[in-house]
Amino acid sequence: MNADARPVFDFPLRTQLFIDGCWCAPETRQRLPVINPSTEETIAEVDAAGPADVDRAVRAASHAWRAWKQTSGAARAAFLRAIARGVEASAEQLAALQSLNNGKPIAESRIDVGDVVATFDYYAGLAERLDEPGEAIAIPSDRHRAVIRREPAGVVGLIVPWNFPMVTTAWKLAPALAAGCTVVLKPSEFTPLPELALAAIVEQAGLPPGVFNIVTGAGTDVGAALTTHPLIAKVSFTGSTAVGEQVMKAAAQSIKGVSLELGGKSSIVVFADADLDLAVDLVIGGAFFNAGQMCSATSRVLVERPLAQALIARLADRVARTVVGDPFAAAVQMGPLTNRAQHERVQRFIARGKADGASLVVQGQAPDGPGYFVQPTMFVDVPAGSAVWREEIFGPVLCVRSFDTEDEAIATANDTEFGLVASVVTRDAARGQRVAAALQAGVVWINAPQLIFPQTSWGGFKKSSIGRELGPFGLAAFQEIKQVLTAADSD
Ligand code: NDP
Repeated sequence: MNADARPVFDFPLRTQLFIDGCWCAPETRQRLPVINPSTEETIAEVDAAGPADVDRAVRAASHAWRAWKQTSGAARAAFLRAIARGVEASAEQLAALQSLNNGKPIAESRIDVGDVVATFDYYAGLAERLDEPGEAIAIPSDRHRAVIRREPAGVVGLIVPWNFPMVTTAWKLAPALAAGCTVVLKPSEFTPLPELALAAIVEQAGLPPGVFNIVTGAGTDVGAALTTHPLIAKVSFTGSTAVGEQVMKAAAQSIKGVSLELGGKSSIVVFADADLDLAVDLVIGGAFFNAGQMCSATSRVLVERPLAQALIARLADRVARTVVGDPFAAAVQMGPLTNRAQHERVQRFIARGKADGASLVVQGQAPDGPGYFVQPTMFVDVPAGSAVWREEIFGPVLCVRSFDTEDEAIATANDTEFGLVASVVTRDAARGQRVAAALQAGVVWINAPQLIFPQTSWGGFKKSSIGRELGPFGLAAFQEIKQVLTAADSD
């Protein structure tokens, strides 16, 4: 990285655990290095918690829950708004810290920080509505009254990955606090710094001790301890399908609730009547934002045959001209992958695509020197059985196939074990809606980029998810439902 571009932070880098309102060291006394993926240099060392630290954090959260669950929605909303204002006040610093630790271009990090603010503000609004009396339900008895109340689930464990560190945290933390839950958060061992900075903002917002706790450390030590702890009522996890399966199995031992946001292998379907400029922009954004490290990456392009040649030529040109490099340089469109394992994994997929007979249209060279950079890559005529067509790559690799009929496009798009998102590009409004209805996906964008508003929903069909985040669904994920049936003459 160019030294001139290196950000200067005016708040101290937090590297300790935050338990029961205090920054503290783990019982293990161990530390984990945090790597800058652009340079492979160690930026910091953070505490590596062990099961005893997780236990301490969960017990603090359990103790705090007794009072926190009694607070009014309005009071919790005030804390959420204070967090949102704190994030706003440190927006540029948080964005820079995320780009340093995760490697995404600074412009993308700024979008993430804006999303964090919007999410806390949105759930503050929902928290205020929780003070309204329970919802009366019409029942076929005039001698009884039935009311449904929504109560906090309890102590929740939040496990987040490294691709959108603060955003994924906000999508879980804001509704959990709004609902009246207390929280133990485990960031990814690769990107703990943005979460720790966020924790300092949560601390400044003045939450009572124990309501929010953060334990950094490796997944097997910390994540597994959280998912099996008897005082945790619910685990909300975002990450790989393989670990999601382990989380669900572990939670089953104590019948915990789970919300899972897992993998995807999503399609963008481009019909021959599409606006070509728009289609190119939507394909590029859907595949290469965050260097393709998105569960929502629409990395499978299905193009109707009459438009295929023109679209492929335009995409190949854009892919080849992508500027890859230092996330703080203004012209850079794509940073490095976030960690070494992902870097190796993506290169294995590219080799696999070539071996499976997919036509390589573009594979640029990664910049010289250190860093987990991968130049964006594009395959066409990809065999439907190839791993690059069927498995989540989580990197900047685009795969294109052509189709002849609408039914074929829908069947090909749905031919995956995942069902997170899909995009449709067409000038025919009726077809757009028809195809959206037929696609097995939790989110469908029609002629639109991958905008996600906190008011809507996030999650998918099939192996992509259990439950939904965002919107009222995200709040409901942290609530229990209680029915109160009262005899009319007991008033
Ligand atoms: P993981 O699923 O391993 O990581 C996600 C989170 O789970 C991290 O906080 C991780 O901690 C934690 N974790 C790891 N093991 C356990 C466990 N046994 N119990 C509880 N929590 C655990 O993702 P990877 O980093 O391994 O990425 C591999 C692949 O997963 C990617 O290539 C991509 O395909 C997919 N992925 C999908 C994401 C999504 O948004 N749906 C996000 C990230 C990855 P730690 O980092 O400390 O190990």
